[in-house]
Amino acid sequence: MIWNETMECMSRKDMRKIQEIRLKKTVERVYHNCEPYRKRMQEAGITPGDIQTLDDIVKLPFTSKKDLRDYYPFGLLSVPMSEIVRLQASSGTTGKPIVVGYTRKDLSVWGETGARCFTAYGLGKQDVVQVSYGYGLFTGGLGAHCAVETIGGAVLPMSSGNTEKQIMLMHDFGAVGLACTPSYALYLADAMKDSGIPREEFKLKIGAFGAEPWTEAMRVEIQEKLGIKAYDLYGLTEIIGPGVGHECEFQNGTHLCEDHFYPEIVDPDTGEPVAPGEMGELVFSTITKEGMPLLRFRTRDLTSLNYSVCECGRTSVRMGRILGRCDDMLIIRGVNVFPSQVESVICEMPELEPHYFIEVDRVNNLDTFEIRVEVKEEFYTDEMNRLLDLRKRIVHRLQSVIGLSPDVKLVEPRSIERSQGKAKRVNDKRNFYEL
Ligand code: ADP
Ligand code: ZN
Repeated sequence: MIWNETMECMSRKDMRKIQEIRLKKTVERVYHNCEPYRKRMQEAGITPGDIQTLDDIVKLPFTSKKDLRDYYPFGLLSVPMSEIVRLQASSGTTGKPIVVGYTRKDLSVWGETGARCFTAYGLGKQDVVQVSYGYGLFTGGLGAHCAVETIGGAVLPMSSGNTEKQIMLMHDFGAVGLACTPSYALYLADAMKDSGIPREEFKLKIGAFGAEPWTEAMRVEIQEKLGIKAYDLYGLTEIIGPGVGHECEFQNGTHLCEDHFYPEIVDPDTGEPVAPGEMGELVFSTITKEGMPLLRFRTRDLTSLNYSVCECGRTSVRMGRILGRCDDMLIIRGVNVFPSQVESVICEMPELEPHYFIEVDRVNNLDTFEIRVEVKEEFYTDEMNRLLDLRKRIVHRLQSVIGLSPDVKLVEPRSIERSQGKAKRVNDKRNFYEL
């Protein structure tokens, strides 16, 4: 099913026309209503009149998380506070949170894009959808909540945590959809098994998972363990929250709601646009937002864009899986390593659970690289030789994928701490900033 066929299936030419009109309007709006933008544009020697076509967008300066911190809390709003009806924030990694303000119209855009996502997953009016993203300042809970309400489904606002109750209500209320982080989905899968309630007694069919990077291998794992179809749900606080993009039934790329959020891919080092289809940093300009429009916001997310028409009939651009964030990338002994590469190796080995933890340190000027990973119950044995052999195979496989041989520690099932929100799977103890 398609929520908004006009917008989701429009010709590329018409889409560009709409994007152009909306972009121009947004540039005008921020120039006249937001001091920091006006200053930036003046410094770059441009006025709104210089943005006539979509291609002119490259003339605009970038914005980044740092700008949101520098103008904390409300410096980037383009409307008076009296127009703001909701505030949300993301913890970020350091220091002050990042705050965004929504007008009533922004909330309805959020509902619209969220509705496109949940409709594409095959959910509708008749379905109970359990939202197990955290509610509160984090956009996950309220974003998914508003999406489900917009499509007319019955939202079950569980928030994260309280796992036993999650399972009980999922069963008793017959939830068909589940929205949470992929790591929490795995946690719930174990809890479902522990509950002793037979799988057939649950109605769960569809998962809307996001808020953190996950691999194709992790999707397979979740689909098997939960017996559902697991779809990607993408979003970020600065742009609106969950609902910036979604997969469709073909699970072959994440469609972006590009009539609201105009995407570009740039080289993360130079900021120059990359060739079509190439991997780089995703940059968004919000082109309908009123409260806090952002122009050319650097997401730090690494991916690529595919403009071909999807089998589902949607013409909206599809984003490839997020490899990670530029700032997630670890440089270990000079080699670039993304946690997602480690994850795909772990998920492809049948003896391992998809639970792992990476620890990097520096001892005597040498980087250490340790990966702890859980072995499945049925493969966990006292026989030293079998475990040693398994370990050898993992190291070998990692060596061929990432070009490094980490110190792999096989640990008992369920010994690695589980996450109920965004998973934390890396501890980089090398403190570069203190040097
Ligand atoms: P924070 O920056 O504090 O994590 P957000 O909750 O706004 O704040 O997180 C947005 C980020 O989460 C995105 O920029 C991206 O890195 C990640 N993310 C969100 N959804 C997905 C997804 N479906 N796949 C991969 N990464 C995702
Ligand atoms: Zn599609």
